[in-house]
Amino acid sequence: MTHISSNIEAAASLLKAGEVVAIPTETVYGLGADATNDAAVAKIFEAKGRPSDNPLIVHIADLKQLHPIAGSVPKKAEQLMDVFWPGALTIILPKGEGLSDKVTAGLSTVGIRMPDHPIARNIILEAGLPIAAPSANTSGRPSPTSAAHVWDDLQGKIPLIVDGGPTGIGVESTVIDCSVQSPVILRPGGITQEEIEAVIGKVQMDAGLLEQSQKPRSPGMKYSHYAPIAPLRIIEGSPAFFKEQIQSAKERGLKVGVLGIHEKQSDYEGADIILTCGPNPRLQDVAQKLYANLRKFDEYSLDVILSESFPREGLGQAIMNRLEKAAGHQVIKEDGNTK
Ligand code: AMP
Ligand code: MG
Repeated sequence: MTHISSNIEAAASLLKAGEVVAIPTETVYGLGADATNDAAVAKIFEAKGRPSDNPLIVHIADLKQLHPIAGSVPKKAEQLMDVFWPGALTIILPKGEGLSDKVTAGLSTVGIRMPDHPIARNIILEAGLPIAAPSANTSGRPSPTSAAHVWDDLQGKIPLIVDGGPTGIGVESTVIDCSVQSPVILRPGGITQEEIEAVIGKVQMDAGLLEQSQKPRSPGMKYSHYAPIAPLRIIEGSPAFFKEQIQSAKERGLKVGVLGIHEKQSDYEGADIILTCGPNPRLQDVAQKLYANLRKFDEYSLDVILSESFPREGLGQAIMNRLEKAAGHQVIKEDGNTK
Protein backbone atom coordinates (compact mmCIF):
# COMPACT_ATOMS: atom_id res chain seq x y z
CA MET A 1 0.00 0.00 0.00
CA THR A 2 1.43 3.38 -1.02
CA HIS A 3 0.71 6.57 0.96
CA ILE A 4 1.14 10.12 -0.29
CA SER A 5 1.95 12.68 2.40
CA SER A 6 4.26 15.55 3.21
CA ASN A 7 5.42 14.09 6.52
CA ILE A 8 9.19 14.48 6.76
CA GLU A 9 9.52 12.48 10.01
CA ALA A 10 7.60 9.53 8.52
CA ALA A 11 9.88 9.57 5.47
CA ALA A 12 13.03 9.68 7.61
CA SER A 13 11.80 6.81 9.84
CA LEU A 14 11.08 4.62 6.82
CA LEU A 15 14.54 5.37 5.37
CA LYS A 16 16.21 4.51 8.69
CA ALA A 17 14.22 1.26 8.73
CA GLY A 18 15.65 0.25 5.32
CA GLU A 19 12.59 1.19 3.22
CA VAL A 20 12.40 3.16 -0.03
CA VAL A 21 10.64 6.54 -0.19
CA ALA A 22 9.90 8.84 -3.15
CA ILE A 23 11.20 12.34 -2.40
CA PRO A 24 10.77 15.65 -4.24
CA THR A 25 13.97 17.41 -5.31
CA GLU A 26 14.47 20.55 -7.40
CA THR A 27 15.28 18.45 -10.50
CA VAL A 28 12.88 15.46 -10.56
CA TYR A 29 11.39 13.16 -7.89
CA GLY A 30 13.92 10.66 -6.52
CA LEU A 31 13.42 7.18 -5.11
CA GLY A 32 15.55 7.22 -1.97
CA ALA A 33 17.03 4.55 0.28
CA ASP A 34 19.84 4.28 2.86
CA ALA A 35 22.99 4.22 0.70
CA THR A 36 24.85 2.21 3.36
CA ASN A 37 22.30 -0.62 3.44
CA ASP A 38 22.51 -3.36 0.75
CA ALA A 39 18.97 -4.62 1.25
CA ALA A 40 17.50 -1.10 1.14
CA VAL A 41 19.39 -0.22 -2.06
CA ALA A 42 18.27 -3.51 -3.65
CA LYS A 43 14.66 -2.36 -3.16
CA ILE A 44 15.30 0.69 -5.37
CA PHE A 45 16.46 -1.48 -8.29
CA GLU A 46 13.51 -3.83 -7.75
CA ALA A 47 10.81 -1.13 -7.58
CA LYS A 48 12.12 0.63 -10.72
CA GLY A 49 13.09 -2.47 -12.69
CA ARG A 50 16.49 -0.77 -13.05
CA PRO A 51 19.42 -2.72 -14.55
CA SER A 52 21.87 -3.49 -11.72
CA ASP A 53 24.88 -2.18 -13.70
CA ASN A 54 23.50 1.37 -13.59
CA PRO A 55 24.92 3.15 -10.51
CA LEU A 56 22.90 5.45 -8.24
CA ILE A 57 23.60 9.02 -7.17
CA VAL A 58 24.16 9.51 -3.43
CA HIS A 59 22.42 12.54 -1.95
CA ILE A 60 23.75 14.44 1.06
CA ALA A 61 22.52 17.55 2.86
CA ASP A 62 25.68 18.63 4.68
CA LEU A 63 29.35 18.68 3.64
CA LYS A 64 30.10 16.69 6.82
CA GLN A 65 28.45 13.73 5.05
CA LEU A 66 30.95 13.87 2.16
CA HIS A 67 33.61 12.04 4.13
CA PRO A 68 34.01 9.12 4.33
CA ILE A 69 31.86 8.30 1.24
CA ALA A 70 34.22 10.21 -1.09
CA GLY A 71 37.77 8.83 -1.17
CA SER A 72 39.29 12.18 -2.13
CA VAL A 73 38.07 15.57 -3.36
CA PRO A 74 40.16 17.18 -6.12
CA LYS A 75 40.49 20.98 -6.20
CA LYS A 76 38.14 21.45 -9.17
CA ALA A 77 35.46 19.34 -7.49
CA GLU A 78 35.75 21.52 -4.40
CA GLN A 79 35.35 24.67 -6.50
CA LEU A 80 32.24 23.23 -8.14
CA MET A 81 30.74 22.29 -4.75
CA ASP A 82 31.41 25.81 -3.45
CA VAL A 83 29.46 27.38 -6.31
CA PHE A 84 26.77 24.84 -7.26
CA TRP A 85 25.92 22.97 -4.05
CA PRO A 86 23.21 22.73 -3.03
CA GLY A 87 22.03 22.36 -6.62
CA ALA A 88 21.58 20.30 -9.78
CA LEU A 89 25.17 19.09 -10.12
CA THR A 90 26.30 15.50 -9.44
CA ILE A 91 30.04 15.13 -8.99
CA ILE A 92 31.76 11.78 -9.64
CA LEU A 93 34.60 11.21 -7.16
CA PRO A 94 36.78 8.27 -6.13
CA LYS A 95 34.67 6.04 -3.91
CA GLY A 96 35.32 6.11 -0.16
CA GLU A 97 34.07 3.91 2.65
CA GLY A 98 30.77 2.72 3.98
CA LEU A 99 28.50 2.67 0.93
CA SER A 100 26.68 -0.40 -0.30
CA ASP A 101 28.49 -1.85 -3.37
CA LYS A 102 25.09 -1.94 -5.09
CA VAL A 103 25.02 1.89 -5.14
CA THR A 104 28.10 2.14 -7.32
CA ALA A 105 27.35 -0.99 -9.38
CA GLY A 106 30.88 -2.21 -8.68
CA LEU A 107 32.61 0.98 -9.95
CA SER A 108 35.54 2.53 -8.04
CA THR A 109 33.82 5.93 -8.23
CA VAL A 110 30.68 7.40 -6.71
CA GLY A 111 28.31 10.15 -7.90
CA ILE A 112 27.38 12.60 -5.12
CA ARG A 113 24.93 15.53 -5.07
CA MET A 114 23.55 17.94 -2.50
CA PRO A 115 19.98 18.73 -3.58
CA ASP A 116 18.55 22.24 -3.22
CA HIS A 117 15.03 21.41 -2.06
CA PRO A 118 13.97 22.03 1.53
CA ILE A 119 11.97 18.79 1.80
CA ALA A 120 14.78 16.62 0.38
CA ARG A 121 17.36 18.30 2.59
CA ASN A 122 15.25 17.98 5.74
CA ILE A 123 14.52 14.31 5.09
CA ILE A 124 18.23 13.56 4.57
CA LEU A 125 19.20 15.50 7.71
CA GLU A 126 16.45 13.90 9.79
CA ALA A 127 17.44 10.40 8.61
CA GLY A 128 21.12 11.24 9.22
CA LEU A 129 22.12 9.02 6.30
CA PRO A 130 23.54 9.39 2.80
CA ILE A 131 20.55 8.65 0.56
CA ALA A 132 20.95 6.79 -2.75
CA ALA A 133 18.29 8.02 -5.17
CA PRO A 134 17.69 7.59 -8.90
CA SER A 135 14.66 9.19 -10.52
CA ALA A 136 11.43 7.72 -9.09
CA ASN A 137 10.04 6.33 -12.36
CA THR A 138 9.78 2.85 -13.79
CA SER A 139 13.03 2.34 -15.76
CA GLY A 140 12.65 3.59 -19.34
CA ARG A 141 9.72 5.95 -18.59
CA PRO A 142 10.05 9.74 -18.46
CA SER A 143 11.31 10.92 -15.06
CA PRO A 144 8.60 12.07 -12.62
CA THR A 145 8.14 15.78 -12.02
CA SER A 146 5.08 15.45 -9.75
CA ALA A 147 3.87 13.09 -7.02
CA ALA A 148 1.13 11.93 -9.41
CA HIS A 149 3.76 10.73 -11.93
CA VAL A 150 5.45 8.70 -9.18
CA TRP A 151 2.05 7.29 -8.19
CA ASP A 152 1.34 6.24 -11.79
CA ASP A 153 4.60 4.27 -11.98
CA LEU A 154 5.22 2.96 -8.46
CA GLN A 155 1.89 2.69 -6.57
CA GLY A 156 1.77 -0.57 -4.62
CA LYS A 157 5.56 -0.98 -4.92
CA ILE A 158 6.77 1.58 -2.36
CA PRO A 159 5.36 2.60 1.04
CA LEU A 160 5.49 6.41 0.76
CA ILE A 161 5.54 9.27 -1.76
CA VAL A 162 6.39 12.63 -0.22
CA ASP A 163 4.44 15.27 -2.15
CA GLY A 164 6.34 18.53 -2.68
CA GLY A 165 4.34 19.76 -5.69
CA PRO A 166 5.76 20.01 -9.22
CA THR A 167 9.56 20.11 -9.44
CA GLY A 168 11.22 23.39 -10.43
CA ILE A 169 13.92 22.45 -12.93
CA GLY A 170 12.26 19.44 -14.51
CA VAL A 171 15.32 17.65 -15.92
CA GLU A 172 17.89 15.67 -13.93
CA SER A 173 21.17 16.95 -12.53
CA THR A 174 24.24 17.44 -14.67
CA VAL A 175 26.75 14.63 -14.02
CA ILE A 176 30.42 15.66 -14.13
CA ASP A 177 33.31 13.23 -13.65
CA CYS A 178 35.92 14.84 -11.40
CA SER A 179 37.72 11.55 -10.67
CA VAL A 180 39.86 12.13 -13.78
CA GLN A 181 42.55 14.76 -14.50
CA SER A 182 40.32 16.90 -16.76
CA PRO A 183 36.67 16.86 -15.68
CA VAL A 184 34.19 15.52 -18.25
CA ILE A 185 30.41 16.06 -18.41
CA LEU A 186 28.82 12.61 -18.56
CA ARG A 187 25.23 13.85 -18.65
CA PRO A 188 23.97 17.36 -19.45
CA GLY A 189 21.39 18.59 -16.92
CA GLY A 190 20.17 21.41 -14.71
CA ILE A 191 23.55 23.18 -14.43
CA THR A 192 24.84 24.15 -17.87
CA GLN A 193 28.26 23.53 -19.43
CA GLU A 194 28.66 27.32 -19.71
CA GLU A 195 28.02 27.80 -15.98
CA ILE A 196 30.54 25.07 -15.11
CA GLU A 197 33.18 26.49 -17.46
CA ALA A 198 32.81 29.91 -15.84
CA VAL A 199 34.10 28.29 -12.62
CA ILE A 200 36.73 25.68 -13.64
CA GLY A 201 37.51 26.53 -17.28
CA LYS A 202 36.92 24.44 -20.40
CA VAL A 203 35.32 21.03 -19.85
CA GLN A 204 34.63 18.30 -22.39
CA MET A 205 31.33 16.56 -23.08
CA ASP A 206 31.70 12.77 -23.00
CA ALA A 207 32.18 11.65 -26.62
CA GLY A 208 29.52 8.97 -26.04
CA LEU A 209 26.92 11.73 -25.70
CA LEU A 210 27.83 13.37 -28.97
CA GLU A 211 28.29 10.32 -31.15
CA GLN A 212 25.99 7.33 -31.20
CA SER A 213 28.84 4.97 -32.05
CA GLN A 214 30.81 5.72 -28.86
CA LYS A 215 30.03 3.99 -25.60
CA PRO A 216 28.94 6.54 -22.97
CA ARG A 217 31.00 6.56 -19.77
CA SER A 218 27.95 7.07 -17.61
CA PRO A 219 26.38 3.60 -17.61
CA GLY A 220 22.85 5.00 -17.43
CA MET A 221 23.21 6.94 -20.68
CA LYS A 222 23.32 3.78 -22.78
CA TYR A 223 19.75 2.78 -21.94
CA SER A 224 16.78 3.98 -23.95
CA HIS A 225 14.82 6.31 -21.78
CA TYR A 226 12.04 8.84 -21.40
CA ALA A 227 10.08 7.34 -24.28
CA PRO A 228 6.34 7.93 -24.69
CA ILE A 229 4.31 5.00 -26.10
CA ALA A 230 3.95 6.50 -29.60
CA PRO A 231 7.17 6.89 -31.62
CA LEU A 232 8.66 10.36 -31.29
CA ARG A 233 10.43 12.19 -34.14
CA ILE A 234 12.38 15.43 -33.76
CA ILE A 235 11.87 17.85 -36.64
CA GLU A 236 14.71 20.21 -37.55
CA GLY A 237 13.76 22.83 -40.12
CA SER A 238 11.48 25.70 -41.04
CA PRO A 239 7.84 26.08 -39.91
CA ALA A 240 6.79 25.09 -43.46
CA PHE A 241 8.81 21.88 -43.16
CA PHE A 242 7.15 21.08 -39.82
CA LYS A 243 3.72 21.62 -41.44
CA GLU A 244 4.66 19.26 -44.28
CA GLN A 245 5.62 16.56 -41.80
CA ILE A 246 2.23 16.84 -40.08
CA GLN A 247 0.39 16.76 -43.42
CA SER A 248 2.32 13.78 -44.69
CA ALA A 249 1.59 11.83 -41.48
CA LYS A 250 -2.11 12.73 -41.76
CA GLU A 251 -2.15 11.55 -45.40
CA ARG A 252 -0.91 8.20 -44.15
CA GLY A 253 -3.93 8.09 -41.81
CA LEU A 254 -1.90 8.58 -38.63
CA LYS A 255 -3.09 10.20 -35.41
CA VAL A 256 -0.49 12.91 -34.84
CA GLY A 257 0.72 14.59 -31.64
CA VAL A 258 2.93 17.68 -31.62
CA LEU A 259 5.34 18.74 -28.89
CA GLY A 260 5.50 22.38 -29.78
CA ILE A 261 6.09 25.97 -28.88
CA HIS A 262 3.05 27.93 -27.73
CA GLU A 263 3.74 30.90 -30.00
CA LYS A 264 3.93 28.65 -33.09
CA GLN A 265 0.57 26.89 -32.63
CA SER A 266 -0.71 28.04 -36.04
CA ASP A 267 2.15 26.08 -37.66
CA TYR A 268 0.76 22.82 -36.26
CA GLU A 269 -2.51 22.89 -38.21
CA GLY A 270 -3.89 19.41 -38.76
CA ALA A 271 -2.27 17.82 -35.69
CA ASP A 272 -4.68 15.88 -33.46
CA ILE A 273 -3.07 16.82 -30.15
CA ILE A 274 -0.74 19.76 -29.48
CA LEU A 275 1.14 20.02 -26.18
CA THR A 276 3.31 23.07 -25.65
CA CYS A 277 5.91 24.09 -23.13
CA GLY A 278 4.44 27.19 -21.54
CA PRO A 279 3.20 30.41 -23.12
CA ASN A 280 6.75 31.73 -23.08
CA PRO A 281 9.05 29.10 -24.54
CA ARG A 282 12.13 29.91 -22.52
CA LEU A 283 14.35 26.85 -22.17
CA GLN A 284 13.58 26.78 -18.43
CA ASP A 285 9.87 26.42 -19.25
CA VAL A 286 10.56 23.73 -21.86
CA ALA A 287 12.65 21.73 -19.35
CA GLN A 288 10.13 22.14 -16.56
CA LYS A 289 7.24 20.78 -18.63
CA LEU A 290 9.15 18.29 -20.81
CA TYR A 291 8.51 15.04 -18.92
CA ALA A 292 4.90 15.91 -17.99
CA ASN A 293 4.21 16.47 -21.70
CA LEU A 294 5.93 13.24 -22.75
CA ARG A 295 3.80 11.36 -20.21
CA LYS A 296 0.58 13.17 -21.24
CA PHE A 297 0.88 12.00 -24.86
CA ASP A 298 0.28 8.44 -23.61
CA GLU A 299 -3.36 9.38 -22.85
CA TYR A 300 -4.25 9.91 -26.53
CA SER A 301 -3.41 6.66 -28.41
CA LEU A 302 -1.28 8.53 -30.95
CA ASP A 303 0.53 6.91 -33.88
CA VAL A 304 3.37 9.42 -33.99
CA ILE A 305 4.60 12.47 -32.07
CA LEU A 306 6.49 15.23 -33.87
CA SER A 307 8.65 17.49 -31.72
CA GLU A 308 10.20 20.89 -32.21
CA SER A 309 13.95 20.97 -31.70
CA PHE A 310 15.64 23.46 -29.37
CA PRO A 311 19.01 25.24 -29.47
CA ARG A 312 21.77 22.93 -28.18
CA GLU A 313 23.20 25.44 -25.78
CA GLY A 314 22.61 26.22 -22.10
CA LEU A 315 19.73 24.14 -20.79
CA GLY A 316 19.02 23.19 -24.43
CA GLN A 317 21.83 20.60 -24.22
CA ALA A 318 19.94 18.67 -21.54
CA ILE A 319 16.57 19.12 -23.28
CA MET A 320 17.89 17.86 -26.65
CA ASN A 321 19.76 14.98 -24.96
CA ARG A 322 16.51 13.77 -23.33
CA LEU A 323 14.43 14.37 -26.45
CA GLU A 324 16.90 12.47 -28.64
CA LYS A 325 16.85 9.53 -26.25
CA ALA A 326 13.05 9.61 -26.13
CA ALA A 327 13.05 9.64 -29.95
CA GLY A 328 15.56 6.80 -30.26
CA HIS A 329 17.71 9.41 -32.09
CA GLN A 330 15.18 9.78 -34.93
CA VAL A 331 15.75 13.34 -36.15
CA ILE A 332 14.13 14.43 -39.43
CA LYS A 333 16.11 17.27 -40.98
CA GLU A 334 14.96 19.67 -43.66
CA ASP A 335 18.35 19.45 -45.36
CA GLY A 336 17.48 15.85 -46.19
CA ASN A 337 19.73 14.01 -43.75
CA THR A 338 17.81 11.81 -41.38
CA LYS A 339 20.03 11.47 -38.36
P1 AMP B 1 19.31 8.77 -12.42
O1 AMP B 1 19.60 8.93 -10.97
O2 AMP B 1 18.36 7.68 -12.75
O3 AMP B 1 18.91 10.07 -13.02
O4 AMP B 1 20.69 8.34 -13.09
C1 AMP B 1 21.94 8.67 -12.55
C2 AMP B 1 22.95 8.82 -13.66
O5 AMP B 1 24.26 9.01 -13.07
C3 AMP B 1 23.04 7.58 -14.53
O6 AMP B 1 23.24 7.99 -15.87
C4 AMP B 1 24.26 6.87 -13.96
O7 AMP B 1 24.84 6.00 -14.88
C5 AMP B 1 25.15 8.04 -13.59
N1 AMP B 1 26.14 7.69 -12.55
C6 AMP B 1 25.91 7.47 -11.24
N2 AMP B 1 27.06 7.11 -10.62
C7 AMP B 1 28.04 7.11 -11.55
C8 AMP B 1 29.45 6.82 -11.54
N3 AMP B 1 30.07 6.45 -10.41
N4 AMP B 1 30.12 6.92 -12.70
C9 AMP B 1 29.49 7.30 -13.85
N5 AMP B 1 28.17 7.58 -13.92
C10 AMP B 1 27.44 7.48 -12.80
MG1 MG C 1 16.56 8.20 -14.24
